[in-house]
Amino acid sequence: MSATATLAPVRKAKKNAVPGVTTYYVPSEADPKQEYIVVAVDRDGITIRFCQCPDFFTRRLPTFGTGHFEGCKHCLRTVDFEEQQA
Ligand SMILES: [Zn+2]
Repeated sequence: MSATATLAPVRKAKKNAVPGVTTYYVPSEADPKQEYIVVAVDRDGITIRFCQCPDFFTRRLPTFGTGHFEGCKHCLRTVDFEEQQA
């Protein structure tokens, strides 16, 4: 069993009002009652994920557009989530 199996599951929003934008709800590992919203934005075949957690805002978002941009662990969990659905 992998470590991620014990995490609370990622949920995907049933309705996504904006075309090309998918919303996810990702529980915090530190506090399962805390949940972060991740939005995946598809534009021209490229998906960019944005999270509302402090790590994303303070450490990831400032690198957006520089080529060093990476998502936080919540963004990565939505990637895992989609791979598990495939
Ligand atoms: Zn995050």
